[in-house]
Amino acid sequence: TGEFDGLVAIVTGGASGIGAAIVERLAADGASVAILDLNPSPDEDSATRLSVRANVADDASVRAAIEAVVARFGRLDIVVNNAGIGAQGTVESNDDDEWHRVFDINVVGMARVTRAALPHLRESPSAAIVNTASIAATAGLPQRALYTATKGAVLSLTRAMAADHLREGIRVNCVNPGTADTPWVGRLLDSAADPAAERAALEARQPHGRLVAATEVAGAVAYLASPRSGSTTGTSIAVDGGMQEL
Ligand code: NAD
Repeated sequence: TGEFDGLVAIVTGGASGIGAAIVERLAADGASVAILDLNPSPDEDSATRLSVRANVADDASVRAAIEAVVARFGRLDIVVNNAGIGAQGTVESNDDDEWHRVFDINVVGMARVTRAALPHLRESPSAAIVNTASIAATAGLPQRALYTATKGAVLSLTRAMAADHLREGIRVNCVNPGTADTPWVGRLLDSAADPAAERAALEARQPHGRLVAATEVAGAVAYLASPRSGSTTGTSIAVDGGMQEL
């Protein structure tokens, strides 16, 4: 028996990387889990697992996916707003269309998914929302103006949502991963001239000398989703090897 026995979770972006690790962790602890992803894995379907094609940038797609989850599992207790994309560049190099596109996925996507989920979360005795922000929210990384702005917005959105839904018994928190070992980072490394050397350099830049494991982020998400954190809302947990202290 696990601490999420009988509960239902959705994880956006759950088909890859950090999201996939969150899916496995919540499922291992007893939850029925639905993946909402642009690239779902149909072979994931089982009595306790559902994979739905959904685009968090499309309101109709999000609403249909959440209704499919509730039709299948009968309830919704945990929402992990994890889907997100990267963006490189400065305010000069990213044009308006790029700003709108990335904000629409990384920030408005969380509002959309939450809006569709709230009527169901209000029925849950232990409702929790966990958003994936990033160390980028506070780090001031070069060549990441747009991405860092979206993740800063996720931090403030998390606090605002926590305040709005406090008295409904819905907790809202976020995790701030450092550079994590996921397909996303793998793609960045693969685009380098010497991916192995680039990986070694990236690891050396981490305070603890290695990339963050997606399972470490998933552990923090599981804590924030569980009644063990029942007195915690509006906060963030850094899972970054100490990067925020540098
Ligand atoms: P990833 O690219 O491995 O996985 C992201 C998943 O999100 C993919 O399955 C993708 O299909 C899905 N997705 C993308 N756009 C979507 C959309 N519009 N609708 C639905 N699904 C969509 O990435 P990851 O590294 O696992 O990152 C996951 C989250 O963690 C993101 O929010 C990212 O900003 C954040 N994060 C990652 C790192 C890192 O170093 N990897 C660090 C800090 C924060």
